[in-house]
Amino acid sequence: MRLCCSLLLVCAAAFAQAQPALVDEIWTAHYVVTMDAQHRVIENGAVAIRGDRIVDVGPRAAIDKSYQARQRLDRPDALLTPGLINTHTHVAMSLFRGIADDLRLQEWLEKYIFPAEAKNVDAEFVRWGTRLACLEMALSGTTTFTDMYYFEDTIASATKEAGLRGILGETIIGFPAPDFKTPQAALAGTEKFLQSYAHDPLIVPAVAPHAIYTNSDETLKASRKLADRYSKPLIIHLAETKTENDESLARRKMTPTAALDALGVLTGWTVAAHGVWLNDADLKILKMRGTGLSHNPSSNMKLASGVAPVVKILGLGIPMGLGTDGVAGSNNDQDIMVEMDLAAKLQKVTTGDPRALPAEQAFAMATILGARALRLDSMIGSIEKGKRADLITVRLDAPHAVPMYNVYSQLAYSLHGSDVSDVMVNGRAIVRDRKMLTLDAGAIMAKAAEYQERIRRSLR
Ligand SMILES: [Zn+2]
Repeated sequence: MRLCCSLLLVCAAAFAQAQPALVDEIWTAHYVVTMDAQHRVIENGAVAIRGDRIVDVGPRAAIDKSYQARQRLDRPDALLTPGLINTHTHVAMSLFRGIADDLRLQEWLEKYIFPAEAKNVDAEFVRWGTRLACLEMALSGTTTFTDMYYFEDTIASATKEAGLRGILGETIIGFPAPDFKTPQAALAGTEKFLQSYAHDPLIVPAVAPHAIYTNSDETLKASRKLADRYSKPLIIHLAETKTENDESLARRKMTPTAALDALGVLTGWTVAAHGVWLNDADLKILKMRGTGLSHNPSSNMKLASGVAPVVKILGLGIPMGLGTDGVAGSNNDQDIMVEMDLAAKLQKVTTGDPRALPAEQAFAMATILGARALRLDSMIGSIEKGKRADLITVRLDAPHAVPMYNVYSQLAYSLHGSDVSDVMVNGRAIVRDRKMLTLDAGAIMAKAAEYQERIRRSLR
């Protein structure tokens, strides 16, 4: 009897081993670009997904043997890569796309953006602006973005509706904003927001003081305290322009980075956008504090802000991702593929060295380095077992995509956001065959046209 039982057990174990495990989806592609520690590129690769997680990644034959999927997506003529990460933007401003270009920052702000915002920005504007940006970002392969604007709770709900991942913070600024009229009110609103989204699977709520030059020292210190109390990130603009740097030196005898550090603002989880005007002492501080940075080449070029010392920053091991910045004047699109291409070329032309920021490193900035800058690299940024299933496929059947000798060269220099075919965020497919599954693209396009008329009239 006992012998019979153990025989049965052995048989059952053998049977269980032979049976492929059930997963929700299997995605396969010509190449899987993992961005794991070895930067493995798997030819004829596959990824198995269950729930919100990546269960396994490997050669297609091995994955197909080990797993049985409820659904599968086979892309024999595409790359499968981690979802792209936009580490700095202002999504709702997409309704101001191209409203005024080729101006000095002050003129652009005072003549166009501030009046346009005062007359048009409300929760509905922010909802439709966010939907438009989410549509654009998802269709060009972005799965995670970091945002700072007004009515951020509306941005959070529109982001969840789209199915994207967001690190979102209400702008705290030293003048009356469209929603909160004082920094104190914005801090109180932020605290509520931190509580509402404390455990959300897609949203990481953040504390977002706009910059050192638009906030009092008290507000900056209170922002740090609030972020620490809830163990959430503080996001801020830092060392973007020469003016910001010069004014800080004149007023405080310190660079913006040194001044923020002296106030204690950089002690903790921080993501700083731009980092153009950084000297060696600033870099030392950022390295010591573990600050994550966001490089925004389109914005820095278009506003003539300068060139961030990206090669130096990455060489020191400071994590730096890519950002688009807002599309109203600093950049007119949300396409991270463009930022990859520009980041690489901008370092080459300014260092006089074509070896500076190679394609593979530019793609790392758009994925795993971006995740590291956000301190979310245990969750996203690469295709590895146990990470969240944030995946994209990029088609290789266009004339500009062939021939392909190196996947990173193709990704950084040849392919476009419009080559993205499918997108999954947190295990949920949100784009299939270049069609957004979660948002009504027709309604969003119609609203954008409606807002164009309304905004144009408001500026007359
Ligand atoms: Zn910005």
